[in-house]
Amino acid sequence: MTVRLRAHHLLCLLTYVGKGYSPAFTANYDVVVERLAGGEDIQIVSGPDDICTPLLDEPDAHCLGEGAAGRDELAAQDVADLLARPLQAGARIELDASTLARMRKAFSLGLTRKACPGCEWFELCGAVAAGGFHGTRL
Ligand code: SF4
Repeated sequence: MTVRLRAHHLLCLLTYVGKGYSPAFTANYDVVVERLAGGEDIQIVSGPDDICTPLLDEPDAHCLGEGAAGRDELAAQDVADLLARPLQAGARIELDASTLARMRKAFSLGLTRKACPGCEWFELCGAVAAGGFHGTRL
């Protein structure tokens, strides 16, 4: 199986510590993390992905908005530059241990955070990175 992910969630996964918009959201997020930890690869998608699913029934779900799409664009550029590979919709990527380590190091250094300003989780993600990603689920 393959996990469908929008590009900015490649960053959000790095600092996910079990906090999120609702219990249903984090329960589903945990399942996605388990799938990735189990070795499933990722296909980049445009728009809502496997992490967004529990939020899509809400009126005005932010996952459908331009803000989230803009974050995808910026994150895809940053991560593509870091990994020296294209990350357009349809691209496939594996978050193996060495890729995760590279992405976490770059995130800590602020090299891949163009997508993050204005996000309500900005400070939490910064604190998790500053703490050496202690307590992250992936
Ligand atoms: S600040 Fe927001 S967009 Fe950036 S990694 Fe955290 S949750 Fe994702």
